[in-house]
Amino acid sequence: MSLIEVKGLKKNYGDLQAVRGLDLQIEQGEIFSLLGPNGAGKTTTVEILEGFRTRDSGSVSVLGVDPQIKGHESRIWRNRIGIVLQNSADAGDLSVGETVKHFSNYYSNPLDVQEVIHSVGLDEKQGSLIRNLSGGQRRRLDVALGIIGNPELLFLDEPTTGFDPQARRAFWSLIQQLRSDGTTILLTTHYLDEAQALADRVAVINHGQIVEISTPTELGGRATAQATVQWRDGAQIKLEKTDNPTALVSKLSTHFGGEIPELIVTRPSLEDIYLEMIGNPNE
Ligand code: ATP
Repeated sequence: MSLIEVKGLKKNYGDLQAVRGLDLQIEQGEIFSLLGPNGAGKTTTVEILEGFRTRDSGSVSVLGVDPQIKGHESRIWRNRIGIVLQNSADAGDLSVGETVKHFSNYYSNPLDVQEVIHSVGLDEKQGSLIRNLSGGQRRRLDVALGIIGNPELLFLDEPTTGFDPQARRAFWSLIQQLRSDGTTILLTTHYLDEAQALADRVAVINHGQIVEISTPTELGGRATAQATVQWRDGAQIKLEKTDNPTALVSKLSTHFGGEIPELIVTRPSLEDIYLEMIGNPNE
């Protein structure tokens, strides 16, 4: 059985059909990324999976449990999941260290507080009050609070918004480390390079429906899309699209007698493919 199983999920807000019959399966140990434009239904879907919103129809199983359960069973289930919301750290008068320690008490099998603070790069801010942290540092604290409970399943909602490039790379390493430790991760992001770097599979959602589920390299036929070969010929930059870049490069190499000046071979980026899939929002 999959770690997350969603079948025929629907959710309306009045007349608005926010989620319109969504099917999804996420396997143990994978990083699965939800991509989609503003208003596509990602947050609605994720919050149903987290047990924060009710559904109108369809079936949902998360770690073998229906997130709509209540009471004791719900608490046992919550102990097994971690959630990084868009802004969870609200205790402005506590220090970073106190906050992480405080949250660790909610869980039966928490990670080591020092290790978690270290892994999100907040060692030096341990004694600082939360209200004195920068935006990116607060975000790192949110991540620390999401993982302190040593979750089997981690929900990450736009986790790197406001991070500087170095902090993003450090965060990606942390997420890859969690995955190799066996954590399953559902990542919602608007950064296509982040999905490319982290996700085993991505789902593109638009208008409350899945457009496609695939690996980042294969989405929308990306792996077999035409390559663009670019090189310099004298004063000119030449460009050619081809299904057989190797043959073209080989021909050029013979032509130039070895090194091809300023050679670049590219295929459409995940962002190119994604934008093509979701179409023009004004159409
Ligand atoms: P974003 O990328 O902007 O976070 P999203 O894909 O997460 O977007 P949702 O937040 O799930 O999208 O919203 C889906 C649709 O449902 C939107 O049109 C939104 O306006 C609407 N919606 C979301 N929550 C509510 C609500 N509580 N009441 C009414 N409409 C809502």
